[in-house]
Amino acid sequence: MKKITIAIDGYSSCGKSTLAKELAKELNYIFVDYGAMYRAVTFFVAQKNLVTSNSIDKKAIIDILHEVNLSFQLNEETKTPEIYLNGENIEKEIRTPFVSSLVSKVAAIKEVREKLVEEQRKMGENGGIIMDGRDIGSVVFPHAELKLFVTAEIATRVERRYAEMIAKGEEVTRQEVEKNLIERDHLDSTREESPLIQTEDAIVLDNTNLNRKEQLELALTLVKERT
Ligand code: C5P
Repeated sequence: MKKITIAIDGYSSCGKSTLAKELAKELNYIFVDYGAMYRAVTFFVAQKNLVTSNSIDKKAIIDILHEVNLSFQLNEETKTPEIYLNGENIEKEIRTPFVSSLVSKVAAIKEVREKLVEEQRKMGENGGIIMDGRDIGSVVFPHAELKLFVTAEIATRVERRYAEMIAKGEEVTRQEVEKNLIERDHLDSTREESPLIQTEDAIVLDNTNLNRKEQLELALTLVKERT
Protein backbone atom coordinates (compact mmCIF):
# COMPACT_ATOMS: atom_id res chain seq x y z
CA MET A 1 0.00 0.00 0.00
CA LYS A 2 1.25 3.49 -0.87
CA LYS A 3 2.43 5.45 2.20
CA ILE A 4 0.86 8.85 2.59
CA THR A 5 1.29 11.85 4.91
CA ILE A 6 -1.37 12.21 7.57
CA ALA A 7 -1.90 15.51 9.41
CA ILE A 8 -3.93 15.55 12.61
CA ASP A 9 -4.86 18.93 14.06
CA GLY A 10 -7.31 20.02 16.70
CA TYR A 11 -7.94 21.49 20.11
CA SER A 12 -6.09 20.53 23.28
CA SER A 13 -6.79 17.13 24.82
CA CYS A 14 -9.16 15.82 22.20
CA GLY A 15 -7.19 12.61 21.70
CA LYS A 16 -5.02 13.57 18.75
CA SER A 17 -1.88 11.86 20.05
CA THR A 18 -3.78 8.75 21.08
CA LEU A 19 -5.25 8.44 17.60
CA ALA A 20 -1.94 9.24 15.90
CA LYS A 21 -0.06 6.61 17.93
CA GLU A 22 -2.63 3.91 17.29
CA LEU A 23 -2.82 4.70 13.58
CA ALA A 24 0.97 4.63 13.32
CA LYS A 25 1.10 1.18 14.93
CA GLU A 26 -1.68 -0.15 12.73
CA LEU A 27 -0.18 1.20 9.50
CA ASN A 28 3.49 0.87 10.40
CA TYR A 29 4.00 4.62 9.96
CA ILE A 30 6.23 6.99 11.93
CA PHE A 31 4.41 9.09 14.51
CA VAL A 32 5.72 12.51 15.48
CA ASP A 33 4.16 14.46 18.33
CA TYR A 34 4.81 18.05 17.26
CA GLY A 35 3.28 19.44 20.46
CA ALA A 36 6.15 17.76 22.33
CA MET A 37 8.62 19.97 20.45
CA TYR A 38 6.86 23.17 21.58
CA ARG A 39 6.70 21.76 25.09
CA ALA A 40 10.43 20.96 25.03
CA VAL A 41 11.39 24.50 23.99
CA THR A 42 9.08 25.82 26.73
CA PHE A 43 10.69 23.54 29.30
CA PHE A 44 14.15 24.77 28.26
CA VAL A 45 13.33 28.49 28.44
CA ALA A 46 11.24 28.14 31.62
CA GLN A 47 14.25 26.62 33.39
CA LYS A 48 16.06 29.85 32.60
CA ASN A 49 13.10 31.94 33.83
CA LEU A 50 12.56 33.45 30.39
CA VAL A 51 8.87 32.63 30.63
CA THR A 52 6.82 32.62 33.83
CA SER A 53 3.10 32.80 34.59
CA ASN A 54 3.16 36.58 34.26
CA SER A 55 6.14 37.42 32.06
CA ILE A 56 7.87 36.43 28.85
CA ASP A 57 11.21 37.67 27.51
CA LYS A 58 10.77 37.05 23.80
CA LYS A 59 14.10 38.55 22.78
CA ALA A 60 16.07 36.37 25.20
CA ILE A 61 14.11 33.29 24.06
CA ILE A 62 14.91 34.01 20.42
CA ASP A 63 18.60 34.57 21.27
CA ILE A 64 18.88 31.25 23.06
CA LEU A 65 17.03 29.12 20.51
CA HIS A 66 20.23 27.93 18.83
CA GLU A 67 21.06 26.06 22.08
CA VAL A 68 17.99 23.85 21.67
CA ASN A 69 18.65 20.52 19.99
CA LEU A 70 15.67 18.22 19.78
CA SER A 71 15.43 14.63 18.64
CA PHE A 72 13.08 11.68 19.00
CA GLN A 73 14.12 8.15 19.96
CA LEU A 74 11.93 5.10 20.02
CA ASN A 75 11.13 3.70 23.46
CA GLU A 76 11.51 -0.01 22.74
CA GLU A 77 9.10 -0.97 25.52
CA THR A 78 6.17 1.26 24.60
CA LYS A 79 7.07 1.43 20.88
CA THR A 80 6.46 5.16 20.86
CA PRO A 81 9.00 7.90 20.17
CA GLU A 82 10.17 10.00 23.12
CA ILE A 83 11.65 13.46 22.97
CA TYR A 84 15.23 14.36 23.87
CA LEU A 85 16.53 17.85 24.62
CA ASN A 86 20.28 18.17 24.09
CA GLY A 87 20.64 14.41 24.53
CA GLU A 88 18.45 14.12 27.64
CA ASN A 89 15.09 12.36 27.73
CA ILE A 90 12.53 14.94 28.91
CA GLU A 91 9.33 13.10 27.95
CA LYS A 92 8.01 13.23 31.52
CA GLU A 93 9.10 16.77 32.32
CA ILE A 94 7.23 18.30 29.38
CA ARG A 95 3.82 16.87 30.37
CA THR A 96 3.50 18.72 33.69
CA PRO A 97 0.77 21.32 34.40
CA PHE A 98 3.60 23.85 34.73
CA VAL A 99 4.76 23.37 31.12
CA SER A 100 1.13 23.14 29.90
CA SER A 101 0.41 26.52 31.47
CA LEU A 102 3.25 28.24 29.57
CA VAL A 103 3.55 26.42 26.25
CA SER A 104 1.02 28.38 24.20
CA LYS A 105 2.80 31.64 24.99
CA VAL A 106 6.11 30.26 23.73
CA ALA A 107 4.46 28.59 20.72
CA ALA A 108 3.13 31.98 19.60
CA ILE A 109 6.66 33.33 18.97
CA LYS A 110 7.38 33.52 15.23
CA GLU A 111 11.04 32.50 15.50
CA VAL A 112 10.21 29.48 17.65
CA ARG A 113 7.70 28.32 15.04
CA GLU A 114 10.11 28.90 12.15
CA LYS A 115 12.79 26.77 13.81
CA LEU A 116 10.43 23.93 14.65
CA VAL A 117 8.52 23.94 11.36
CA GLU A 118 11.81 23.61 9.46
CA GLU A 119 12.73 20.56 11.57
CA GLN A 120 9.22 19.12 11.28
CA ARG A 121 9.23 19.37 7.47
CA LYS A 122 12.57 17.53 7.31
CA MET A 123 11.20 14.70 9.45
CA GLY A 124 8.23 14.23 7.16
CA GLU A 125 9.69 14.64 3.73
CA ASN A 126 9.59 10.93 2.83
CA GLY A 127 5.92 10.29 3.66
CA GLY A 128 4.68 7.40 5.80
CA ILE A 129 4.34 9.80 8.68
CA ILE A 130 1.56 10.87 11.01
CA MET A 131 1.89 14.17 12.80
CA ASP A 132 -0.30 15.75 15.38
CA GLY A 133 -0.37 19.42 16.29
CA ARG A 134 -2.16 22.67 15.52
CA ASP A 135 -0.82 23.83 12.17
CA ILE A 136 0.17 20.59 10.44
CA GLY A 137 -2.49 20.65 7.73
CA SER A 138 -2.36 24.41 7.30
CA VAL A 139 1.36 25.26 7.46
CA VAL A 140 3.73 22.33 7.98
CA PHE A 141 2.25 19.91 5.43
CA PRO A 142 -0.42 21.76 3.44
CA HIS A 143 -0.24 18.98 0.83
CA ALA A 144 -0.83 16.10 3.26
CA GLU A 145 -3.00 13.46 1.56
CA LEU A 146 -5.20 13.10 4.64
CA LYS A 147 -6.02 15.89 7.07
CA LEU A 148 -8.06 15.22 10.15
CA PHE A 149 -9.45 17.91 12.40
CA VAL A 150 -10.15 16.15 15.68
CA THR A 151 -12.55 17.63 18.16
CA ALA A 152 -14.67 16.72 21.20
CA GLU A 153 -16.93 18.58 23.59
CA ILE A 154 -15.04 20.49 26.27
CA ALA A 155 -16.55 18.51 29.17
CA THR A 156 -15.35 15.27 27.58
CA ARG A 157 -11.88 16.66 26.97
CA VAL A 158 -11.59 17.91 30.56
CA GLU A 159 -12.66 14.54 31.93
CA ARG A 160 -10.16 12.63 29.77
CA ARG A 161 -7.21 14.89 30.59
CA TYR A 162 -8.13 14.99 34.28
CA ALA A 163 -8.23 11.17 34.48
CA GLU A 164 -4.90 10.96 32.65
CA MET A 165 -3.21 13.37 35.06
CA ILE A 166 -4.62 11.76 38.18
CA ALA A 167 -3.40 8.39 36.90
CA LYS A 168 0.07 9.91 36.58
CA GLY A 169 -0.06 11.09 40.17
CA GLU A 170 -0.41 14.82 39.39
CA GLU A 171 -2.28 16.92 41.92
CA VAL A 172 -4.82 18.86 39.87
CA THR A 173 -8.50 19.73 40.01
CA ARG A 174 -11.01 19.51 37.17
CA GLN A 175 -11.32 23.32 37.32
CA GLU A 176 -7.57 23.75 36.77
CA VAL A 177 -7.58 21.34 33.84
CA GLU A 178 -10.56 23.11 32.26
CA LYS A 179 -8.98 26.54 32.73
CA ASN A 180 -5.76 25.38 31.06
CA LEU A 181 -7.56 23.82 28.08
CA ILE A 182 -9.71 26.90 27.49
CA GLU A 183 -6.73 29.24 27.78
CA ARG A 184 -4.57 27.18 25.42
CA ASP A 185 -7.35 26.79 22.84
CA HIS A 186 -7.91 30.52 22.93
CA LEU A 187 -4.21 31.41 22.55
CA ASP A 188 -3.65 28.73 19.88
CA SER A 189 -6.64 29.83 17.79
CA THR A 190 -6.12 33.58 18.03
CA ARG A 191 -2.33 33.96 17.72
CA GLU A 192 -0.97 35.81 14.71
CA GLU A 193 1.53 33.14 13.64
CA SER A 194 -0.09 30.03 12.11
CA PRO A 195 -3.12 29.83 14.39
CA LEU A 196 -5.07 26.61 14.83
CA ILE A 197 -7.63 26.51 12.03
CA GLN A 198 -9.73 23.88 10.36
CA THR A 199 -8.58 23.84 6.73
CA GLU A 200 -11.22 23.44 4.01
CA ASP A 201 -9.91 20.03 2.98
CA ALA A 202 -9.76 18.62 6.54
CA ILE A 203 -12.22 15.98 7.66
CA VAL A 204 -13.77 16.68 11.05
CA LEU A 205 -13.61 13.78 13.46
CA ASP A 206 -15.73 14.53 16.53
CA ASN A 207 -14.94 11.79 19.03
CA THR A 208 -17.19 12.95 21.89
CA ASN A 209 -19.23 9.77 21.59
CA LEU A 210 -16.60 7.46 20.14
CA ASN A 211 -14.36 5.11 22.06
CA ARG A 212 -10.73 4.60 21.03
CA LYS A 213 -11.50 1.58 18.89
CA GLU A 214 -14.36 3.29 17.03
CA GLN A 215 -12.24 6.38 16.42
CA LEU A 216 -9.37 4.27 15.09
CA GLU A 217 -11.64 2.30 12.75
CA LEU A 218 -13.12 5.48 11.34
CA ALA A 219 -9.68 6.95 10.71
CA LEU A 220 -8.44 3.70 9.13
CA THR A 221 -11.36 3.77 6.68
CA LEU A 222 -10.37 7.29 5.66
CA VAL A 223 -6.74 6.24 5.19
CA LYS A 224 -7.76 3.28 3.02
CA GLU A 225 -9.82 5.57 0.79
CA ARG A 226 -6.65 7.54 0.05
CA THR A 227 -4.11 4.79 -0.46
O1 C5P B 1 -0.44 18.80 21.45
P1 C5P B 1 -0.02 19.41 22.77
O2 C5P B 1 -1.17 19.75 23.66
O3 C5P B 1 1.04 18.66 23.48
O4 C5P B 1 0.66 20.80 22.33
C1 C5P B 1 1.13 21.71 23.29
C2 C5P B 1 1.07 23.14 22.75
O5 C5P B 1 2.03 23.31 21.69
C3 C5P B 1 -0.26 23.59 22.15
O6 C5P B 1 -1.18 24.08 23.09
C4 C5P B 1 0.20 24.69 21.18
O7 C5P B 1 0.35 25.91 21.86
C5 C5P B 1 1.56 24.24 20.73
N1 C5P B 1 1.57 23.61 19.40
C6 C5P B 1 1.56 24.42 18.30
N2 C5P B 1 1.65 23.88 17.03
C7 C5P B 1 1.74 22.54 16.87
C8 C5P B 1 1.72 21.69 18.00
C9 C5P B 1 1.61 22.25 19.26
O8 C5P B 1 1.48 25.63 18.42
N3 C5P B 1 1.87 22.05 15.63
